[in-house]
Amino acid sequence: MQIDHLINGKPVAGRDYFQTVNPATQEVLAEVASGGEADVHAAVAAAKEAFPKWAGLPAPERAKLIRKLGDLIARNVPEIAQTETNDCGQVIAQTGKQLVPRAADNFYYFAEMCTRVDGHTYPTPTHLNYTLFHPVGVCALISPWNVPFMTATWKVAPCLAFGNTAVLKMSELSPLTAARLGELALEAGIPAGVLNLVHGYGKEAGEPLVAHPDVRAISFTGSTATGNRIVKSAGLKKFSMELGGKSPFVIFDDADLDRALDAAIFMIFSNNGERCTAGSRILVQQSIYADFAAKFAERAKRITVGDPLDEKTIVGPMISQAHLAKVRSYIELGPKEGATLLCGGLGAPELPDRVKKGNYVLPTVFADVDNRMKIAQDEIFGPVACLIPFKDEADAIRLANDIAYGLSSYVWTENIGKAHRVAAAVEAGMCFVNSQNVRDLRQPFGGTKASGTGREGGTWSYEVFCEPKNIAVSL
Ligand code: NAD
Repeated sequence: MQIDHLINGKPVAGRDYFQTVNPATQEVLAEVASGGEADVHAAVAAAKEAFPKWAGLPAPERAKLIRKLGDLIARNVPEIAQTETNDCGQVIAQTGKQLVPRAADNFYYFAEMCTRVDGHTYPTPTHLNYTLFHPVGVCALISPWNVPFMTATWKVAPCLAFGNTAVLKMSELSPLTAARLGELALEAGIPAGVLNLVHGYGKEAGEPLVAHPDVRAISFTGSTATGNRIVKSAGLKKFSMELGGKSPFVIFDDADLDRALDAAIFMIFSNNGERCTAGSRILVQQSIYADFAAKFAERAKRITVGDPLDEKTIVGPMISQAHLAKVRSYIELGPKEGATLLCGGLGAPELPDRVKKGNYVLPTVFADVDNRMKIAQDEIFGPVACLIPFKDEADAIRLANDIAYGLSSYVWTENIGKAHRVAAAVEAGMCFVNSQNVRDLRQPFGGTKASGTGREGGTWSYEVFCEPKNIAVSL
């Protein structure tokens, strides 16, 4: 299969092609156009030309097309989910039941929302002030390889719904489902040039895109290192930076331990542990630490590692051999830093024949982790849990915040006052109390500190995709 760029509604051949590989089997899935400056220029020019007409459509007409795109995704869930699973190794139980259906919901949600954009009024005795929310113009949308389809749609849906046009660049490791999104957008009747795709590597395709003078806003999801680079090189533009995380999952001794255990397992091992909001630092109160650690490791040992196309598989392959090597290097480091390996480690999981060559790692649990160890401070982005004991509420808050990141956080306690105090004190963009990460599309999604800046979701998406204007009329 060959995947080309999509520019102004037409497939555009690459000057060069790279291969995308199934991480479970190492089979080459497609030859993908490798974009550069010229492709970026053409895509931005197409988006710029399409902008006035698209922005000028009444919102209900844009909404109709956006909703239709949602319908086309909903109708094609099994096919898209299978492509996604093959391209990035996320297990089919997640892609088929959660992530691809959620992508359709993103379009339904923002189709509805764009018809309700309203302004504010600030009347004074001498002036009437009111605000308008204009679309921004051409937006650069850049996505990572983990949950790529859902992330792409989380950007494309509000971007287009609010009247902007887009150039989308997916990760070079997982470009296939977004290529399908481009086809479905045209099938839905979204005009040529409104959504353009340039494939390729960060340096060749990403850099010229974010630096392009006609790009007015950047919605980026990816690593903190890349986010920092983009902020420095892009110049004055609107930004939303959704970056890395190492989120604390705090369990007090008065928590509902069975539910906390289920949620803790889910938040570190689902999506192969390749999840920005993973609860990867599990802080457990000393009085229940030993018991919790034993139960947690027992559950982790029973996790099914295997073929991501098998509905029963919980942990599939890591995205690439390079990423596998990175995750393994942290598993090797843990005992050297003094952590106790409770399960997993560097051994090979038992695998069905079809996926024997895949990039697999065993779900791994480290106990007796000190929060200053590298395994606790660095984003491993794999199925590796760190169990860290704490003494009391103040100690839990101190450890939760002793980290560069601030994306998500989780607090488990039956004490309502303590829950609210810790939720308020933790330095993170999001805090889930007695819950795993459950999303409502209205809530502000995003992080603080090294996890980024800006929020997306609901009216928070105005921040990057709308330009507010105040109009003051003298009375
Ligand atoms: P990455 O930063 O390596 O790449 C992300 C995207 O940026 C890719 O499309 C890449 O090609 C592109 N890119 C690379 N260099 C660029 C440059 N100089 N200019 C423009 N674009 C460039 O990240 P990754 O390894 O693909 O993704 C994993 C990271 O993403 C993790 O850190 C994870 O936590 C983070 N993430 C964050 C969220 C969130 O919402 N906060 C969600 C998912 C993933």
